[in-house]
Formats: sequence, structure tokens, C-alpha cells
Amino acid sequence: MDTVHVVEKLAEIGAYGMTFHDDDLFAFGSTEEQRRHEIERLKGALAATGLKIPMITTNLFSHPVFKDGGFTSNDRAVRRFAVRKVLRNLDLAAELGATTFVMWGGREGAEYDQAKDIRAALERYREAVNFLGQYVLDKGYNIRFAIEPKPNEPRGDILLPTVGHALAFIESLEHPELVGLNPEVGHEQMAGLNFAAAIAQALYHGKLYHIDLNGQRGIKYDQDLVFAHGDIYNAFALVDLLEFGGPGGVPAYTGPRHFDYKPSRTEDESGVWESAKANMANYLILKERAASFRADPEVQEALQAAKVDELSVPTFGPGESYDDIIADRSAWEEFDPSLYYGGKGFGFVRLQQLVTEHLTGAR
Ligand code: ZN
Ligand code: ZN
Repeated sequence: MDTVHVVEKLAEIGAYGMTFHDDDLFAFGSTEEQRRHEIERLKGALAATGLKIPMITTNLFSHPVFKDGGFTSNDRAVRRFAVRKVLRNLDLAAELGATTFVMWGGREGAEYDQAKDIRAALERYREAVNFLGQYVLDKGYNIRFAIEPKPNEPRGDILLPTVGHALAFIESLEHPELVGLNPEVGHEQMAGLNFAAAIAQALYHGKLYHIDLNGQRGIKYDQDLVFAHGDIYNAFALVDLLEFGGPGGVPAYTGPRHFDYKPSRTEDESGVWESAKANMANYLILKERAASFRADPEVQEALQAAKVDELSVPTFGPGESYDDIIADRSAWEEFDPSLYYGGKGFGFVRLQQLVTEHLTGAR
């Protein structure tokens, strides 16, 4: 589809902004003149509609030159080419006012264990991200990087396969504050992991810089379905966390609610825009359902019975030492673990049934 048409349609259906890879806007290998032409057309459409470009990203995966990766290709010349492609795109991000720069290393990986020195690959990854971070700092750009983990596809195994792997990598960087995460629903779920739990951990470490919302049904290829057209319970938990998971029930995340899905190939053009609208509608429906869940006195009672709040109470008193806990008879001598066998249930199932009733509109 033509860029101007896409911008106009997105504005018409009420989107806040649009994000893209460099090669989505102008073909790989475009001349500077062709590139400039497409950028100016995009800027014209943005000015006319008010649509924003909050994030952009670089395609280091489609062209065959990246068959063994960009930053971590065994071929050094490819690695240097990849960095140049990203530097150019960082200038474009700054020009368009994007404040997040996503890095999905789709081809940074391998199929065969002996073909890739994983420690060297991680060191080259680190070298590239440090280098790009220094560029952003020196240029004074208001841009942060967000790494997008994925376990596999298109490579047999991809580096930084999950949120947890990426968090550990970020801490090894020269400027970890410049780099966070852009987790995608389907990517964690392809690995059989709980996406809402991954987001909670990203928030815990202050690293949720951006998000890719979509739908996935189980451990299989990356489906990129409409948001909530996959695991709807986890989508509910996610929206509840993002919107009401901050202190005192405020949003835990203030960045763009960004959808990275693919319209189904079964649809015609009207179906494409129906699916775009469905993402936004589903997010707002789940936000309303989560609000109704939170406001239900029975839910509040069930949360209390399940001791959900009690987990926020520190396990030790202020200044309590190991001598103090050893002297505390209630912690051992008078504590009766046998009460927990066949008794002292937590009531988590009751809570989940209340989730089900709110989620389905039965309440
Ligand atoms: Zn994505
Ligand atoms: Zn995906």
C-alpha cells in the first residue's frame, strides 16, 4: 500500500501513530534522491493528519546480505555494513521525532551449533549497541533503544531469545540506561512463556521502553494475530497490569500502546482496516473489563482472601537480623506446617473464576 494512503487510513480509524522499518518506506538500495522523495511524502502526510512516528526500526533481516545476521554475521564486512545502515536510520528517527529505536535481531542467530561462536557473537552484539549508543549521545538525539527478543524464526535459534536473556545482556552494556526492551506478545508465547509475567519483570527492572501487542495461540510459528485473538486470559492480565498496575492503581506503563500484527491474508482491503481497528478496540474492551474487575467488591474480597497484598509486606521487619528470626518462636517452633496440608487454601481458583466472569461479560 502507498505510504500516504496508509497514513490517511490510520488517522481515519483513530490511530495515534505509525512505526516502520527503513525498507518499508523506501526499497533497499534506494538512491538518496528516492529515499528523500519518500521521506518528504511521509512528512507531508504526517503534517496533514497529525499522526506521529513514535518509533522506527531498521531492517537487518530481509536482504540476503543479512543471511547470517547483521551485527553478529561471521562476515566482518557485513557487520560494518549493518552498522552503517542503522546509523543512517538513526538520523531518520531523529528527523521524524521518534524517541524509541527498536532492534529486533531476527537473523542474529544460527541453525548449527559449531557454525556460531555464541560468546563472540554476543561480544559483537554488545560492541555494535555500545557504538550506536555513543552515536546517539554525541549527536544529542532524544532516542532510546529497545531490544525485541524472539526465540526462533527466521533462524533456528536467535540470540537474546527471551525478555530475561535481553535483560541480562543490557546490564553488560556501557550505557544500560539507553537500552530497554520492546517485548512482543507472540515472541514470548512461542517459547511457552507467560507474556504478562515477562512484562511485569521488564517493569520491575525499569526496562519496558516500548511494546509489541499482538495475538498468538501456543507454541508454533509467529502468528502475529490481532491483539487478544490469541491467549485472551493473558491479554486481560496484561492490560490490567499496564493500565492499573502502577502504585495506587495508575498505569504501570505510559509509552505508546503499539500493535505489531499482520492483517490476515484471507482479508480484502476493508478487512485489513477492520483488523487494525480490532487491535485498538480489543485493548479498550479489556481495559474496561479490567476496570470492572477491579471495582467489584467481591473481587476485592477474593484478592484479600488470596493474600495478594501480603506479598508486598517485607519478609523481615526493619533491621531484623538472623539472630532475631532465630529467636522468633512463631517463625519455627510455634509454626505448624501441617495446617497447610489439606487446609489453608489460597482461593486462587475463586479469583480466576471472577476474572472469567468479568472477561466474558457475565458480570
Ligand atoms: Zn514485533
Ligand atoms: Zn511477531
